[in-house]
Amino acid sequence: MQFEVFTLLPEVFPSYLETSIIKRARERGLINVRVHNIRDYTHDKHHMTDDTPYGGGGGMVMKPEPIFEAVESVLGLSAPGEVEEMPFDAAPGESNIPIILLTPQGRVFNQSIAQELSQHSHIVLICGRYEGIDERIREHLVTDEISIGDYVLTGGELPALILIDAISRFLPDVLGDPTGAQDDSHAMGLLEYPHYTRPPEFRGWKIPEVLLSGAHAKIDKWRREQALLRTQKKRPDMIEKAGLSKEDLKFLKTIEQK
Ligand code: SAM
Repeated sequence: MQFEVFTLLPEVFPSYLETSIIKRARERGLINVRVHNIRDYTHDKHHMTDDTPYGGGGGMVMKPEPIFEAVESVLGLSAPGEVEEMPFDAAPGESNIPIILLTPQGRVFNQSIAQELSQHSHIVLICGRYEGIDERIREHLVTDEISIGDYVLTGGELPALILIDAISRFLPDVLGDPTGAQDDSHAMGLLEYPHYTRPPEFRGWKIPEVLLSGAHAKIDKWRREQALLRTQKKRPDMIEKAGLSKEDLKFLKTIEQK
C-alpha cells in the first residue's frame, strides 16, 4: 500500500511513522508513506501557499496552484522535493487512486471505511490548514472527503496519520497476530470483549474463571457474550445495526429478563 501525503508541515509525520507497528510495516515494505511538502510546488519568491479569502472575512485559504501541481506531478511520477525518499513502484498512469481531502465536512471515518480503503494499492491524502482549501481543489481534484469526527482541528495532519494507521491494520501481515483486526472493536459491528493478562489476581481482583479453563469453545462463547453485553451497555446504537444471530438475540433477551 502506497500513501502519498500532501502537507505544509511534513515534520509532523516522522515520529509516528517511525514507531511500533507502522514502523515495522514500512520496514517490511508492507506500506510505503511518502510525505510531500506542498510548499515545494510554489514558484513565487515567498513560496506562498495561502492567500486571503475573496469576499473578505478572517483567516487564510490554501491556494489551488501548489496543491494541484503537487498531486498531479506525484501521481505522474515526476515528483520533486519529497521529504522521504522511498522506493515507489506504482505503475505510471495508475487509475482509481482515491484523492482524499481531510476535512471536518467529509464522511465520518470509521472501521468499515478503513477496510474499504485498504482494498486500494495507492491513496492520496491532502491535509488542509488555516480556514481550509480553495473550493476548486475539492471540486476538480479531490475524489473523496473524510472527517475524523465532528470537531475541528487546526490541520489535516493528525487525521492523515489516523487514516494511515487504521487502514494499515487491515493489510495482510501488518499485525503480528493475523486475527488481530477481526476481533477489534467495530470489526464485527460490536465492541471487543474485555482482555486480561497476568497476574490472575491483582489487589484481590480475580480474572474470570473461564479464561483459565483452557476450554476454547467456552472462552469463545464468553467473549462473544461479553462483546454483546458491553456493546449494548456502551453503544446501543451499534447493537441495532450489528446483524446479530438468533443465539446472540436469545442471550441478550435472557440478560434483559434477569
Ligand atoms: N474552516 C474549516 C471548516 O469549518 O470546515 C475548518 C478548517 S480546519 C481549521 C483546517 C484543516 O484541518 C482542514 O482543512 C482539514 O484539513 C483539517 N481538519 C480539521 N478538522 C478535521 C476533521 N474533523 N477531520 C478531518 N480533517 C480536519
